[in-house]
Amino acid sequence: MIEDSPFVTAAPVLVPMPAERPYTYAVPPGMRVVPGSIVRVPLGPRQVAGIVWDGAVEAVDAKKLRPIEEVFDCPPIDRAMRRFVDWIAHYTLSAPGMVARMLLRAPEAFDPEPWIEGLQRTLAEPDRLTDARRRVLETAEGGLAWTRSGLAHAAGVSSTVIDGLRAQGVFETVMIPPRPVVAAPDPGHGEPELMPDQRVAADKLRAAIATDTFNVTLLDGVTGSGKTEVYFEAVAAALDKGRQVLILLPEIALTHAFLERFQDRFGAKPAEWHSDLPPRMRERVWRQVAEGGVRVVAGARSALFLPFKQLGLIVVDEEHDPAYKQEDRVFYNARDMAVVRGHIGGFPVVLASATPSVESRVNASQGRYDRAVLSSRFAEAALPDLKSIDMRRSPPARGGFLSPVLLEQMQRTLERKEQSLLFLNRRGYAPLTLCRVCGHRFGCPVCSAWLVEHRFRGQLVCHHCGHNERRPEACPECGTLDHLVACGPGVERIAEEVVAHFPDARTIVLSSDLLGGVRRLRLELEAVANGEADIVIGTQLVAKGHNFPGMTLVGVVDADLGLANGDPRAAERTFQLLSQVTGRAGRTGKKSLGLLQTYQPDHPVMRAIVSGDSEAFYEREIAERERAGLPPFGRLAGIIVSAATRGEAESHARGLRRAAPTASDLFVLGPAEAPLSLIGGRHRFRLLVQGERRADMQGFIRAMLAEGPKLRGSVRVQVDIDPQSFL
Ligand code: ADP
Ligand code: ZN
Repeated sequence: MIEDSPFVTAAPVLVPMPAERPYTYAVPPGMRVVPGSIVRVPLGPRQVAGIVWDGAVEAVDAKKLRPIEEVFDCPPIDRAMRRFVDWIAHYTLSAPGMVARMLLRAPEAFDPEPWIEGLQRTLAEPDRLTDARRRVLETAEGGLAWTRSGLAHAAGVSSTVIDGLRAQGVFETVMIPPRPVVAAPDPGHGEPELMPDQRVAADKLRAAIATDTFNVTLLDGVTGSGKTEVYFEAVAAALDKGRQVLILLPEIALTHAFLERFQDRFGAKPAEWHSDLPPRMRERVWRQVAEGGVRVVAGARSALFLPFKQLGLIVVDEEHDPAYKQEDRVFYNARDMAVVRGHIGGFPVVLASATPSVESRVNASQGRYDRAVLSSRFAEAALPDLKSIDMRRSPPARGGFLSPVLLEQMQRTLERKEQSLLFLNRRGYAPLTLCRVCGHRFGCPVCSAWLVEHRFRGQLVCHHCGHNERRPEACPECGTLDHLVACGPGVERIAEEVVAHFPDARTIVLSSDLLGGVRRLRLELEAVANGEADIVIGTQLVAKGHNFPGMTLVGVVDADLGLANGDPRAAERTFQLLSQVTGRAGRTGKKSLGLLQTYQPDHPVMRAIVSGDSEAFYEREIAERERAGLPPFGRLAGIIVSAATRGEAESHARGLRRAAPTASDLFVLGPAEAPLSLIGGRHRFRLLVQGERRADMQGFIRAMLAEGPKLRGSVRVQVDIDPQSFL
């Protein structure tokens, strides 16, 4: 469509549903829309918000079209963002409307924020002065407008006192503009004194910002080296240029400490964006980001879809983290899409990690990314001394999971009044329950998975679909009473063992199923940081980014756990997780120790961690990937076919395989039954497409889907480009 043309009578509108292209709507006389305008349109019996899109409309009879109902009074979605939506849709093989839907998830934000009623002091004096009234007048001195409740609260009086003064004309009603969700950050507020190597890295980032063009810098620094301080310099540089900044964090709901640090540096908090935000707050943040009032957002991956007005920098913290991958509807990796966003917007991107992904390391070594390295901890804090415990030689006592070597170090840590962390990436009490008499195992009725016992809750729970049941007294198979046994450990069971050994220690379990949710977890993490616990037992939640000053011992209960699955990234993930979790120790300079309980102390991952030689690990892993043609040297995509019956899923998957075009640089593996062959009652088959780096993966899969069997009955097909999960 042509902007401002008097002849425009129809416009393409992208609506939030799985449509392959925008729909055409009539533009009523007198209505003015431009590409990016957010509009309300009829869709079947409903009204939805959509975005006026680019491109010409098909030649249609405008009289037959349904009209756009309303153009919202909202800044239009800019061209870079529209291209970003199209790019993601193309890359992930998703409907553009489903990508746009992620952008439109704050419906009330499309209308301007209402002004609020306020009170302002007039020249009139009250008839008589009480104590309460005097306080109100003193508080309102200076002529600023107040809300009724805000003034009452600040003056410490009841609202009726305010009403009385208003009735006498001492205050008059004025309208005040909506308040900013956060104050403006000040780049010069708390400038740190950087160490020499931090200075070098910060200068590099500042120079990258100064170019005002797209570039990517990998900020690669050991845990505790001050990466956050350093990338804050990039943030300051972007703010100085008048640009907005997005900082992506993998676990935003838990990063209270991050917000405080940001405030120390910039004098104000960043706006937060994540799924736990109350809806009203979400809408205000969305609106103020669009209008440019919010300068910095710290958010989860979905913050990529906020309609920034002048975005000039994205920082992806813990860039290697698997939490950046969304595996629902639109399958995308926010780290990769942040780079795409920077490319389209023509601005720099910073990827930070102590354990970068192999992909980012290769991009840096091949010159596509710049690299800034911090090789030592801040203020001479030493990295923890790392050792493996050979569980074959120092086995735990019968029925236990902690080796005497680890227990002894815990004892010493307690005596020094320092903190220990035991890490086990398994929620609940035990991953499997069976009957000692008949061998019956408790499985999920609708998934191919064992039920995990959660003893605090007295339940058996499926970690895939959420199914739960009470743990019975008797075996449902043979009826024998009291002969059910728990097999293997979860964090709750480790806690039981710890309490038995150290009954007087303050022990706490931290995992995502803590009663009280995220809020409670945040409080508990603060308590740990304040030294209010002696022994912490946690899942991967505690591994990420936290600063626990008193923590000097980290014990990994089962270092081999992640190596067992057949995922091509198993070694990399294990290396990252174990480096991160042991990196929680000794962050304030005390001597510290990390112990890995393992049955394979000679495994390259264990040796890399214990020797501290991460370069050797990366070299080996990169060579391995190159040899196998795996990412980033080759491309992968998963296709997951699911259906209500096994037969339907299998035959559809086979049909897709047969429909694969012939190509010299791409081939299909499978279909094979997925390792998780049943989830929520749906049977699953997987195909894997593998190919060369430059192969046209999207075109190939599109052809398969177009030529393959039509979607029928309960069959669903999900395409996962660059898969992280192979289950
Ligand atoms: P990383 O993110 O690399 O693990 P952090 O940025 O969390 O490291 O820094 C570790 C600790 O050192 C933090 O408490 C941080 O405040 C402190 N720190 C790092 N650099 C400086 C500096 N230049 N001045 C003052 N404190 C610093
Ligand atoms: Zn289940």
